Amino acid sequence: MFSDPTLYACRVCGLLQAESPWGEDGKTPNFEICDCCGVEFGYEDCSIETARLARERWKAQGFRWHEPTITPQDWSLEKQLQQIPLHFQ
Ligand SMILES: [Zn+2]
Repeated sequence: MFSDPTLYACRVCGLLQAESPWGEDGKTPNFEICDCCGVEFGYEDCSIETARLARERWKAQGFRWHEPTITPQDWSLEKQLQQIPLHFQ
């Protein structure tokens, strides 16, 4: 399904996106908003420092979904966090 899962996971929360947030080359942000953590791809997730800051902010808000109506019934925060690309953890 995914050519490279790390290209599809949000760098802040790990949610897999329908489209690669940073394009297939990992360098072309699409400026979409993550449904889970609410980060805008291309801004808060452009470096490990800003990604961590955004993750802290999301954590401070109780890991709340940006789009609460689409929160999966069986959502697992732990599993999702494991999908965060290694170099952004
Ligand atoms: Zn996210």
